[in-house]
Amino acid sequence: MVGCQVGGVARRESASVDKTRKLLLDWYRVNRRDLPWRRIRDPYAVWISEAMLQQTRVETVIPYWERFLARFPDVATLAAAQPDAVLGAWAGLGYYSRARNLHRAAKELAAHHGGRLPDTAEGLRELPGVGRYTAGAVASIAFDRPEPVVDGNVARVLVRLHGIREDPKRPAVAARLWEHAAELARGPSPGDLNQALMELGALVCTPRAPSCPACPLRRRCAARRAGDAESLPVKSRKASPRAVEAVAGLILRRGRVLAVRRPPRGLLGGLWELPGGELAPRERPEAGLRRALRERTGLAIADAEPRGEVRHAFTHRSLRLHVFRCDTSEGRVQLVDFDAHRWLAPGALAELPQATLTRKALRLALPSASG
Ligand code: SF4
Repeated sequence: MVGCQVGGVARRESASVDKTRKLLLDWYRVNRRDLPWRRIRDPYAVWISEAMLQQTRVETVIPYWERFLARFPDVATLAAAQPDAVLGAWAGLGYYSRARNLHRAAKELAAHHGGRLPDTAEGLRELPGVGRYTAGAVASIAFDRPEPVVDGNVARVLVRLHGIREDPKRPAVAARLWEHAAELARGPSPGDLNQALMELGALVCTPRAPSCPACPLRRRCAARRAGDAESLPVKSRKASPRAVEAVAGLILRRGRVLAVRRPPRGLLGGLWELPGGELAPRERPEAGLRRALRERTGLAIADAEPRGEVRHAFTHRSLRLHVFRCDTSEGRVQLVDFDAHRWLAPGALAELPQATLTRKALRLALPSASG
């Protein structure tokens, strides 16, 4: 008798998952956006799109993806590219470790996998920079594997659908969400199903003012029934970003300017910038600039003309950068914390791979040459 009841519950649950899946797929087939990477099923192109889409909006990604694919159309071309060329194609997208990892992964694929991506999530996860989300997305979209994905959009939909009133970033809650997503992905067209969840989160089940009347899941949604969709997902209080003050100097010598490159790993790794560094507590910007340049480039400067400030937000830091323009006559560059330097014509500086922060600083220091 108990066995019959358990069997009945399991059948009802499975029918409910089937119904949810069907509602999502039907909705997706009518409402999906025509995005360039959805027109092809090349695993390489899907992988690049998924790497770019992490933490980045679709509208921002489209032109980057198109340029990247035109420049590096396959694994072999990407593997053979110079690091500066890859970072240059990524410049402005942020989170540069994604580009460095793509490049490393392409080299591995070219060297050990005949230039082809593995067709399982486990195989994909062996590649540098490929985590559970990217592996699930590429395996399901490009290879039709029944693998789940949970990103911010999917988490929001699932939290509301199941009425989960706990922070989805907590490991136990995240594990539940992956289970719910895995249940849905274990059916026909897992790639479309995953994209349907992501698309629903992006277009309908939005963080503010979700369009519940237009949602295919409206009759099954716990948060809609309870009337508290907009208050979900629950967020734990975040530590506020650390405020950091720093200085950067455009150093001129005989009409050329000094650019320095960060080492390959770490924040903004491999990108070129103006030399400088963080200020010590209560240190005045000009004094800090002289100290940072002496310590990190070995150069002493004559004058330092303040050119203004740039503000930039990183995930855990909120940065205020004081920008100067300075002259130095002689002295050999001796780098500490950077791994290369170049003296360049001012116009050539903007051609190097650099972060948005450096572009902003260049616009202040050298308005005519920074583009
Ligand atoms: Fe989100 Fe509303 Fe749909 Fe529920 S009914 S999944 S809250 S859009």
